[in-house]
Parts: sequence; structure tokens; C-alpha cells
Amino acid sequence: MSECLFCKFANREIPTQVVYEDEHAFAFRDINPQAPTHVLVIPRLHIENLAAMQTEHETLMGHLLWVCAEVARQEGIVAEGYRVVLNTNRAAGQSVFHLHFHLLGGRHMTWPPG
Ligand code: AMP
Ligand code: ZN
Repeated sequence: MSECLFCKFANREIPTQVVYEDEHAFAFRDINPQAPTHVLVIPRLHIENLAAMQTEHETLMGHLLWVCAEVARQEGIVAEGYRVVLNTNRAAGQSVFHLHFHLLGGRHMTWPPG
């Protein structure tokens, strides 16, 4: 059995605030939200991060971006705008090593990111 926290969410071993799920993807609310909408979109498959992505994951990665767009529609943040972030390794701030897209919206955002 996996020791990964996000695998445990996707397998429903640990409860979380689910906003979307299907055969390949799972989305839930971030415990420490950085915006009014802050959802994490993950593959059910354990992939550490973008650096571990292989060519056989291309379709899956496209699907995860579609899930981000779909959850943004559900959250009503499309017209105002939103940001999708994929932190890779420590300098980028990755703290959980199961690939996750951050979907952030509901407030104005600045550029460049911190
Ligand atoms: P990152 O720093 O890009 O790896 O993002 C990890 C994210 O996971 C952070 O935004 C955390 O707030 C979030 N996180 C950590 N633990 C939990 C948890 N138990 N439930 C929901 N989100 C979590
Ligand atoms: Zn995992």
C-alpha cells in the first residue's frame, strides 16, 4: 500500500474535500488555500512530478489540464480568470511529491509569482 498522502486521498483511504473525480484524475481542495478557489488536480497514477513524466503520460497530462478547465467552470472562475501552477522540485516550492496542478482563482493575481 502506498505511503503517499495524495495516493491515499485518491484511493479514499483518507477523507478530503473532493471536487471532481474520474477513472484517471482526482481533484480536491487545498488544506491551506492561497486564493478563494484553490483546488489540486492529480493523476490517480503516482508520478512524482513533471520531471518524472514519460511520453506514455502525455494523454494523461492533457486530461489533467482538461480537468483543471472543467473544475474552473464548476467554480465559476472562468470569466474573471484563473491560474494553473505545476511546481517541480524544491526551488519551485514542491513539497508533496505526487504530481499536482494547483488551480487558483477568485482573486486578482500578480506576475511574476514569488
Ligand atoms: P506543492 O508545495 O506545490 O507541492 O503543493 C502541495 C500542496 O498540498 C500545498 O498547497 C499544501 O497546502 C497542500 N496540502 C498539503 N497537505 C494537504 C492535505 N492534507 N490536504 C490538502 N492539501 C494539502
Ligand atoms: Zn502518490
